[in-house]
Amino acid sequence: MFLQKATSYARNCVKTQQKLATALFSTKSTKQVYNWEDPLNLESQLTEDEIAVRDSFKTYCQESLLPRVTMANRTESFDKAILQEMGQLGALGCTLQGYGCAGVSNVAYGLLTREVERIDSGYRSALSVQSSLAMGAIYDYGSEAQKQKYLPEMAKGNLVGCFGLTEPNHGSDPAGMETRAKYDSKSKCYILNGSKNWITNSPIADILIVWAKGEDGKVRGFIVDRSISGKGLSTPKIEGKFSLRASTTGMIFMDDVHVPEENLLPNAIGFSGPFGCLNNARYGIAWGALGAAEA
Ligand SMILES: Cc1cc2nc3c(=O)[nH]c(=O)nc-3n(C[C@H](O)[C@H](O)[C@H](O)COP(=O)(O)OP(=O)(O)OC[C@H]3O[C@@H](n4cnc5c(N)ncnc54)[C@H](O)[C@@H]3O)c2cc1C
Repeated sequence: MFLQKATSYARNCVKTQQKLATALFSTKSTKQVYNWEDPLNLESQLTEDEIAVRDSFKTYCQESLLPRVTMANRTESFDKAILQEMGQLGALGCTLQGYGCAGVSNVAYGLLTREVERIDSGYRSALSVQSSLAMGAIYDYGSEAQKQKYLPEMAKGNLVGCFGLTEPNHGSDPAGMETRAKYDSKSKCYILNGSKNWITNSPIADILIVWAKGEDGKVRGFIVDRSISGKGLSTPKIEGKFSLRASTTGMIFMDDVHVPEENLLPNAIGFSGPFGCLNNARYGIAWGALGAAEA
């Protein structure tokens, strides 16, 4: 037994030495040539799928988005059709599994945001908010029924989502949140009152993920579906931004907005809900910043 082990150990040593000698003295050089466009040689670490996803999206960004960005910036306008085009390419909620989503890797998602922000930060905002903040909230914290109902149409870009956390008086400090949700057992609805500020896509959103404090003081997430909770809801656009002009930003005003109890996100209690979504979005934003820097 000992001999067998010793023999196998010796054989392995010889093999390792042979490999080392081949690596050191081979005439074929393995030395990497320095590429200033990819100093960390990231390209070599991508899978074939990631490269294919990246390249097809890059073509779309360069050929379809770039020609539209100048005018969109000038007129401060966002074309909803862009989200549908991104949906057709499988870019919306692309890391989610099922529900019509592509289920690609996080790296692939990062590569997409890098390509889109190479063109414009506003378009990247739209992609991040739809994918990480709105679809991500439903995927991570929603019920199965909510996922089935909303995610497939959001993945196609037919339903536009937004994420309402920031408030006029408590920008960097959501703990000061004033928006309140009160349960009404008669109508089986939560009644939302409050306001949100600087919300990407709120003026055009069909589905508003709104964070509000419940009667117990805990933060809860609500899917405010404009088609059923439109009464008392208004979402004016903020005009005249100096930056991200091709992204529509607005407010959310809620005056006794009735949200059916089945639209409460059941699995988000406290700040871990919104912060979990923001962490995912920040990952994509960091990749996007790389694209903006490279452009
Ligand atoms: C284009 C755009 C899109 C946005 N989209 C969304 C969205 O989709 N959903 C959403 O919920 N929010 C969104 N936001 C809001 C964004 O998250 C807030 O702007 C951010 O949280 C900061 O809040 P504020 O602008 O009120 O700044 P403030 O909180 O008023 O901060 C002003 C300045 O004070 C500094 N500051 C604040 N507190 C402290 C402190 N304790 N110590 C030291 N410095 C401090 C800040 O760093 C900042 O420089 C968006 C904002 C913009 C501009």
